[in-house]
Amino acid sequence: MQDALAVASWRGDVVTSGSEGTPDDGVHDPTSQHYQGTAIDLRYAARRFAQVADYRAAGYIVVPEKDHLHIQKYPRRI
Ligand SMILES: [Zn+2]
Repeated sequence: MQDALAVASWRGDVVTSGSEGTPDDGVHDPTSQHYQGTAIDLRYAARRFAQVADYRAAGYIVVPEKDHLHIQKYPRRI
């Protein structure tokens, strides 16, 4: 599995959220993988389907949100 940040860099995607913060800061769900460093949020690219396909091809779980694309490494918190 490639590193999601490497994929973002290669694609030129804008990362809007990474692993900063703590589970009690209210930014993400308390069980979010953001706090484990296994999830990132991205600004949607102009070609959304290609963007989703690239992260799925890299082995990530891709969750389209209302205003951003959430990428995580595992199906649920580990
Ligand atoms: Zn997220």
